[in-house]
Amino acid sequence: MNEKIKARHQELLYSQLSVSVLTSIVAGSFITIMLWDEVDHVLFSIWLAFFVIVLIYRLLILLFFNRSNDTSSHLNLWDNLNFAGTLMTGLIWGSLTFFYSSLWPPEVQISLWVLLIALMSGASASISVVLKYYIAYCAPIILFSFYVQYVNKSYYLIIIFFFYTLLLSMTARNFRKQNNFIIEQQIMLIDANDKLEALATKDALTNLPNRRAFENLFRNEWERHLRSKKNLSLMMLDVDYFKNYNDHYGHSKGDECLRSIANIIQKSLLRPSDVAARYGGEEFIIILPETSNEGALEVAERIHYNLKVINIPHEYPRPDSRLTVSIGIATLIPKSGKDSKVLQLLADRELYKAKANGRNCTSSNEEIEESTSY
Ligand code: GH3
Ligand code: MG
Ligand code: MG
Repeated sequence: MNEKIKARHQELLYSQLSVSVLTSIVAGSFITIMLWDEVDHVLFSIWLAFFVIVLIYRLLILLFFNRSNDTSSHLNLWDNLNFAGTLMTGLIWGSLTFFYSSLWPPEVQISLWVLLIALMSGASASISVVLKYYIAYCAPIILFSFYVQYVNKSYYLIIIFFFYTLLLSMTARNFRKQNNFIIEQQIMLIDANDKLEALATKDALTNLPNRRAFENLFRNEWERHLRSKKNLSLMMLDVDYFKNYNDHYGHSKGDECLRSIANIIQKSLLRPSDVAARYGGEEFIIILPETSNEGALEVAERIHYNLKVINIPHEYPRPDSRLTVSIGIATLIPKSGKDSKVLQLLADRELYKAKANGRNCTSSNEEIEESTSY
């Protein structure tokens, strides 16, 4: 079964658990008052003790389920725990029928059978979404009831019970179908939403986050660095003479290049917290959290080197040349009152300097300015 559907089933079943436990408390109190004078006190107290233990067990698993932040990674465990609780509850209610005697006053007899039917009716709405839970709950009640009614020769009760359980199972089937249809629709909607979200934040050509996603990520990093007061580096990268490349090799070759450069950038980022995005056209932007200017220069060096290694020929600044990039780096410790755009402007200015310095190089700004040629 689809894991998402299974997870949603557990959410639903656990959300029903508190109501189910409350119902059990009310039903248990009612039936104790009704039966107390008619039954063996010792045996009934043992039944009550089991009843309370199962109640506590169900309350505890509900408590742990609600406290767990990540229930989806242990779905089978939660399923088994909940299923065991449901089966035990069915057995407890079913075993109540063994106290039955046809010698009881009619109102006590009626209250027992009406209570059991009411409990099963509740289950056909609340837990019928997963068939095995419904069966675990109702089967012991139905089977024990039939057995006890048969032993007591209450044949009319067997007939009433039979038709009622038939009716209930049909209702439960409809509930299950409807609920599962709704769940499937909900999951499809959530999946479609996730895909749309990914489309809205990913660049289709390079698969990197797009500019919109970058703006969000950068704002978050800026806020984080405002608190941590650590260095935040930003790197802007622009492909050199890319218009010439497109003009001479064609747009699809140009696209291929952009994909290769995106791969090289990703390969050159060694920390999981570093993020590269496509800023637009043939420009990329890289956020380097908690990274000094020297650290950012090292990353830039790695990018230049890796690009040199794959050696994409580009004959149109010079016949023997290859595709290169220019990089601008800016580093600062964010301070409150400062606009995060400052760092972008500084990095952009450095990129401009790298271009002016002859391209295929990095220019960086912190307190000191550096320019390295490759
Ligand atoms: P410079 O070294 O000064 O950066 O020169 P340049 O030619 O790279 O810069 P310019 O801004 O003049 O040209 C950028 C070119 O990048 C224009 C366009 O042909 C190309 N370009 C932008 N986006 C894409 C894209 O998605 N695919 C392809 N194939 N080319 C693109
Ligand atoms: Mg450009
Ligand atoms: Mg360019």
